Amino acid sequence: MPELPEVETVRRSLLPVVIDKEIQEVEIFLEKAVRPIAPEELKLALIGRKIEDLLRRGKYLIFILDNSQRVAFHLRMTGKLLYKAGLSAPEKHTTLILSFSDGNSLHFVDPRKFGTVVLYEPANPPAGLKKLGPEPVADKKEVVLFSLKTAASRRKGPIKGLLLDQTVIAGLGNIYADETLFRAGVHPTCPAREITAQEWERIYQSIQEILTKAINHRGTTRQDYVDGRGEPGEYQNYLNVYGRKEESCLVCGGTINYTRVAGRGTHYCPNCQPLKKV
Ligand SMILES: [Zn+2]
Repeated sequence: MPELPEVETVRRSLLPVVIDKEIQEVEIFLEKAVRPIAPEELKLALIGRKIEDLLRRGKYLIFILDNSQRVAFHLRMTGKLLYKAGLSAPEKHTTLILSFSDGNSLHFVDPRKFGTVVLYEPANPPAGLKKLGPEPVADKKEVVLFSLKTAASRRKGPIKGLLLDQTVIAGLGNIYADETLFRAGVHPTCPAREITAQEWERIYQSIQEILTKAINHRGTTRQDYVDGRGEPGEYQNYLNVYGRKEESCLVCGGTINYTRVAGRGTHYCPNCQPLKKV
Protein backbone atom coordinates (compact mmCIF):
# COMPACT_ATOMS: atom_id res chain seq x y z
CA MET A 1 0.00 0.00 0.00
CA PRO A 2 1.36 3.45 -0.82
CA GLU A 3 2.39 5.22 2.39
CA LEU A 4 3.44 8.83 3.00
CA PRO A 5 6.67 8.76 0.93
CA GLU A 6 4.95 7.11 -2.04
CA VAL A 7 1.94 9.45 -1.97
CA GLU A 8 4.26 12.45 -1.61
CA THR A 9 6.27 11.18 -4.61
CA VAL A 10 3.08 10.87 -6.66
CA ARG A 11 2.20 14.45 -5.66
CA ARG A 12 5.61 15.80 -6.68
CA SER A 13 5.53 13.93 -9.99
CA LEU A 14 2.05 15.20 -10.86
CA LEU A 15 2.24 18.77 -9.57
CA PRO A 16 4.05 20.31 -12.57
CA VAL A 17 1.78 18.61 -15.11
CA VAL A 18 -1.64 19.20 -13.55
CA ILE A 19 -1.39 22.79 -12.27
CA ASP A 20 -3.66 25.17 -14.18
CA LYS A 21 -5.12 22.32 -16.23
CA GLU A 22 -8.80 22.65 -17.09
CA ILE A 23 -10.91 19.51 -16.68
CA GLN A 24 -12.81 18.95 -19.90
CA GLU A 25 -14.20 15.46 -19.44
CA VAL A 26 -14.71 13.01 -16.56
CA GLU A 27 -15.18 9.30 -17.21
CA ILE A 28 -16.13 7.08 -14.28
CA PHE A 29 -15.78 3.32 -14.67
CA LEU A 30 -16.21 2.29 -11.03
CA GLU A 31 -19.11 4.14 -9.44
CA LYS A 32 -18.55 2.88 -5.89
CA ALA A 33 -15.19 4.68 -5.75
CA VAL A 34 -16.95 8.07 -5.85
CA ARG A 35 -18.09 9.49 -2.48
CA PRO A 36 -20.30 10.89 -1.07
CA ILE A 37 -22.14 12.14 -4.17
CA ALA A 38 -23.42 10.38 -7.28
CA PRO A 39 -20.92 9.94 -10.14
CA GLU A 40 -23.01 12.23 -12.35
CA GLU A 41 -22.79 14.98 -9.72
CA LEU A 42 -19.02 14.60 -9.58
CA LYS A 43 -18.84 15.01 -13.35
CA LEU A 44 -20.97 18.15 -13.23
CA ALA A 45 -18.87 19.59 -10.41
CA LEU A 46 -15.52 18.96 -12.13
CA ILE A 47 -16.11 19.76 -15.79
CA GLY A 48 -14.84 23.24 -16.64
CA ARG A 49 -12.90 23.60 -13.38
CA LYS A 50 -9.17 24.31 -13.25
CA ILE A 51 -6.73 22.62 -10.87
CA GLU A 52 -5.05 25.25 -8.72
CA ASP A 53 -2.91 23.11 -6.47
CA LEU A 54 -2.17 19.55 -5.40
CA LEU A 55 -1.55 18.86 -1.71
CA ARG A 56 -0.91 15.80 0.40
CA ARG A 57 -2.24 15.10 3.88
CA GLY A 58 -1.37 11.69 5.37
CA LYS A 59 -1.96 9.25 2.54
CA TYR A 60 -4.51 11.49 0.77
CA LEU A 61 -3.81 13.42 -2.43
CA ILE A 62 -5.92 16.57 -2.53
CA PHE A 63 -6.63 18.55 -5.69
CA ILE A 64 -7.65 22.18 -5.06
CA LEU A 65 -10.08 23.46 -7.69
CA ASP A 66 -10.43 27.07 -8.81
CA ASN A 67 -13.76 27.40 -6.98
CA SER A 68 -11.98 26.24 -3.77
CA GLN A 69 -13.72 22.85 -3.75
CA ARG A 70 -11.39 19.92 -3.20
CA VAL A 71 -11.11 16.40 -4.56
CA ALA A 72 -9.32 13.88 -2.34
CA PHE A 73 -7.95 10.64 -3.78
CA HIS A 74 -7.02 7.78 -1.46
CA LEU A 75 -5.01 5.11 -3.26
CA ARG A 76 -5.60 2.43 -0.56
CA MET A 77 -3.98 -0.92 -1.49
CA THR A 78 -3.18 -0.70 -5.19
CA GLY A 79 -4.37 2.66 -6.53
CA LYS A 80 -2.22 4.60 -9.00
CA LEU A 81 -2.74 8.08 -10.39
CA LEU A 82 -1.09 8.17 -13.80
CA TYR A 83 -0.57 11.18 -16.01
CA LYS A 84 -0.91 10.28 -19.69
CA ALA A 85 0.19 12.53 -22.52
CA GLY A 86 -2.07 12.69 -25.57
CA LEU A 87 -4.79 10.22 -26.48
CA SER A 88 -4.59 7.21 -24.21
CA ALA A 89 -7.03 4.29 -23.98
CA PRO A 90 -7.92 3.23 -20.42
CA GLU A 91 -5.84 0.33 -19.18
CA LYS A 92 -7.41 -2.57 -17.28
CA HIS A 93 -8.79 -1.68 -13.82
CA THR A 94 -9.23 2.03 -14.58
CA THR A 95 -11.59 3.62 -12.05
CA LEU A 96 -11.77 7.15 -13.39
CA ILE A 97 -10.22 9.43 -16.03
CA LEU A 98 -9.93 13.22 -15.89
CA SER A 99 -9.27 14.57 -19.39
CA PHE A 100 -7.80 18.05 -19.67
CA SER A 101 -8.51 20.68 -22.33
CA ASP A 102 -4.89 20.40 -23.54
CA GLY A 103 -5.50 16.80 -24.68
CA ASN A 104 -3.67 15.08 -21.77
CA SER A 105 -5.31 13.12 -18.97
CA LEU A 106 -5.05 11.71 -15.48
CA HIS A 107 -6.00 8.04 -14.99
CA PHE A 108 -6.93 6.51 -11.64
CA VAL A 109 -6.07 2.82 -12.00
CA ASP A 110 -6.85 0.46 -9.12
CA PRO A 111 -6.82 -3.35 -9.50
CA ARG A 112 -8.07 -4.04 -5.96
CA LYS A 113 -10.78 -1.35 -6.25
CA PHE A 114 -10.50 0.00 -2.68
CA GLY A 115 -9.38 3.49 -3.73
CA THR A 116 -11.76 6.42 -3.27
CA VAL A 117 -12.48 9.82 -4.81
CA VAL A 118 -14.21 12.36 -2.55
CA LEU A 119 -15.43 15.84 -3.52
CA TYR A 120 -15.81 18.24 -0.58
CA GLU A 121 -15.87 21.82 0.57
CA PRO A 122 -12.76 22.90 2.53
CA ALA A 123 -14.89 23.55 5.63
CA ASN A 124 -16.38 20.07 5.50
CA PRO A 125 -13.69 17.43 4.86
CA PRO A 126 -14.56 13.72 4.89
CA ALA A 127 -14.24 11.97 8.26
CA GLY A 128 -11.01 10.15 7.38
CA LEU A 129 -9.26 13.43 6.61
CA LYS A 130 -10.77 15.35 9.51
CA LYS A 131 -9.61 12.78 12.05
CA LEU A 132 -6.01 12.52 10.79
CA GLY A 133 -3.27 12.92 13.38
CA PRO A 134 -0.31 15.26 12.86
CA GLU A 135 1.99 15.16 9.84
CA PRO A 136 5.10 13.34 11.09
CA VAL A 137 7.67 15.53 9.33
CA ALA A 138 5.89 18.81 8.51
CA ASP A 139 4.34 19.36 11.94
CA LYS A 140 6.33 20.49 14.97
CA LYS A 141 8.10 17.88 17.06
CA GLU A 142 6.10 18.80 20.21
CA VAL A 143 2.83 18.30 18.33
CA VAL A 144 3.81 14.90 16.95
CA LEU A 145 5.21 13.63 20.26
CA PHE A 146 2.22 14.94 22.21
CA SER A 147 -0.16 13.04 19.95
CA LEU A 148 1.87 9.81 20.22
CA LYS A 149 2.34 10.00 24.00
CA THR A 150 -1.27 10.95 24.70
CA ALA A 151 -2.58 8.05 22.63
CA ALA A 152 -0.05 5.69 24.26
CA SER A 153 -1.19 6.64 27.75
CA ARG A 154 -4.80 5.81 26.88
CA ARG A 155 -4.45 2.34 25.43
CA LYS A 156 -2.95 -1.05 26.07
CA GLY A 157 -1.87 -2.08 22.57
CA PRO A 158 1.62 -2.48 21.09
CA ILE A 159 3.68 0.44 19.78
CA LYS A 160 3.42 -0.86 16.23
CA GLY A 161 -0.39 -0.55 16.27
CA LEU A 162 -0.08 3.01 17.56
CA LEU A 163 2.24 4.01 14.70
CA LEU A 164 -0.24 2.58 12.17
CA ASP A 165 -3.19 4.50 13.64
CA GLN A 166 -3.81 7.39 11.21
CA THR A 167 -5.66 9.37 13.88
CA VAL A 168 -2.50 9.38 16.03
CA ILE A 169 0.14 10.03 13.36
CA ALA A 170 -0.65 10.43 9.66
CA GLY A 171 0.96 8.59 6.78
CA LEU A 172 2.84 5.65 8.31
CA GLY A 173 1.94 2.16 7.09
CA ASN A 174 3.42 -1.29 7.50
CA ILE A 175 6.75 -0.67 5.74
CA TYR A 176 7.73 2.54 7.51
CA ALA A 177 6.39 1.45 10.93
CA ASP A 178 8.64 -1.65 10.81
CA GLU A 179 11.63 0.37 9.58
CA THR A 180 11.06 3.05 12.25
CA LEU A 181 10.97 0.57 15.13
CA PHE A 182 14.09 -1.20 13.85
CA ARG A 183 16.03 2.04 13.64
CA ALA A 184 14.77 3.08 17.07
CA GLY A 185 15.70 -0.31 18.58
CA VAL A 186 12.18 -0.85 19.91
CA HIS A 187 10.42 -4.24 19.78
CA PRO A 188 7.16 -3.96 17.80
CA THR A 189 5.12 -5.75 20.48
CA CYS A 190 6.31 -3.45 23.28
CA PRO A 191 3.18 -1.95 24.88
CA ALA A 192 2.93 1.69 23.76
CA ARG A 193 2.36 2.84 27.35
CA GLU A 194 5.74 1.35 28.39
CA ILE A 195 7.77 3.33 25.87
CA THR A 196 10.31 5.49 27.75
CA ALA A 197 11.15 9.14 27.07
CA GLN A 198 14.44 8.13 25.41
CA GLU A 199 12.62 5.62 23.23
CA TRP A 200 10.08 8.23 22.14
CA GLU A 201 12.95 10.48 21.18
CA ARG A 202 14.55 7.69 19.12
CA ILE A 203 11.21 6.78 17.52
CA TYR A 204 10.61 10.42 16.56
CA GLN A 205 14.13 10.85 15.11
CA SER A 206 13.83 7.54 13.22
CA ILE A 207 10.55 8.65 11.65
CA GLN A 208 12.19 11.90 10.49
CA GLU A 209 15.24 10.18 9.00
CA ILE A 210 13.39 7.32 7.35
CA LEU A 211 10.56 9.33 5.81
CA THR A 212 12.94 12.03 4.55
CA LYS A 213 15.26 9.46 2.99
CA ALA A 214 12.36 7.48 1.52
CA ILE A 215 10.93 10.64 -0.10
CA ASN A 216 14.39 11.50 -1.47
CA HIS A 217 14.51 8.01 -3.01
CA ARG A 218 10.98 8.42 -4.37
CA GLY A 219 9.30 5.76 -2.24
CA THR A 220 9.40 1.98 -2.07
CA THR A 221 8.39 -0.22 -4.99
CA ARG A 222 7.93 -3.86 -3.99
CA GLN A 223 4.96 -4.91 -6.09
CA ASP A 224 3.16 -2.39 -8.19
CA TYR A 225 3.74 1.09 -6.79
CA VAL A 226 4.80 3.71 -9.37
CA ASP A 227 4.65 7.52 -9.31
CA GLY A 228 2.38 9.70 -11.45
CA ARG A 229 4.73 9.27 -14.42
CA GLY A 230 4.88 5.48 -14.10
CA GLU A 231 8.36 5.48 -12.51
CA PRO A 232 9.16 3.04 -9.66
CA GLY A 233 10.78 4.20 -6.41
CA GLU A 234 14.21 3.18 -5.08
CA TYR A 235 13.82 3.00 -1.32
CA GLN A 236 13.33 -0.80 -1.48
CA ASN A 237 17.14 -0.89 -1.75
CA TYR A 238 17.47 0.72 1.68
CA LEU A 239 15.02 -1.36 3.74
CA ASN A 240 16.54 -2.90 6.87
CA VAL A 241 13.80 -5.28 8.01
CA TYR A 242 10.62 -4.96 5.95
CA GLY A 243 10.31 -7.85 3.47
CA ARG A 244 13.57 -9.41 4.80
CA LYS A 245 12.05 -12.33 6.77
CA GLU A 246 14.77 -14.87 7.68
CA GLU A 247 17.48 -12.82 6.00
CA SER A 248 20.49 -11.53 7.97
CA CYS A 249 20.23 -8.30 9.92
CA LEU A 250 22.42 -5.71 8.21
CA VAL A 251 23.51 -4.37 11.62
CA CYS A 252 24.11 -7.44 13.84
CA GLY A 253 24.07 -10.39 11.43
CA GLY A 254 21.22 -12.10 13.33
CA THR A 255 18.06 -13.38 11.66
CA ILE A 256 15.15 -11.06 10.86
CA ASN A 257 12.00 -12.43 12.50
CA TYR A 258 8.46 -12.25 11.19
CA THR A 259 5.31 -12.25 13.28
CA ARG A 260 1.86 -10.64 13.39
CA VAL A 261 1.37 -7.49 15.47
CA ALA A 262 -1.82 -5.42 15.45
CA GLY A 263 -3.10 -7.71 12.71
CA ARG A 264 -0.22 -6.93 10.36
CA GLY A 265 2.79 -8.92 9.18
CA THR A 266 5.73 -7.50 11.13
CA HIS A 267 9.47 -7.73 10.57
CA TYR A 268 12.03 -7.09 13.31
CA CYS A 269 15.48 -8.08 14.56
CA PRO A 270 15.25 -9.69 18.02
CA ASN A 271 18.86 -8.65 18.78
CA CYS A 272 18.61 -5.01 17.71
CA GLN A 273 15.06 -4.68 19.08
CA PRO A 274 15.13 -6.67 22.34
CA LEU A 275 11.95 -7.25 24.31
CA LYS A 276 12.21 -5.45 27.62
CA LYS A 277 12.27 -7.60 30.73
CA VAL A 278 9.38 -6.69 32.96
ZN1 LIG B 1 20.05 -6.88 14.23
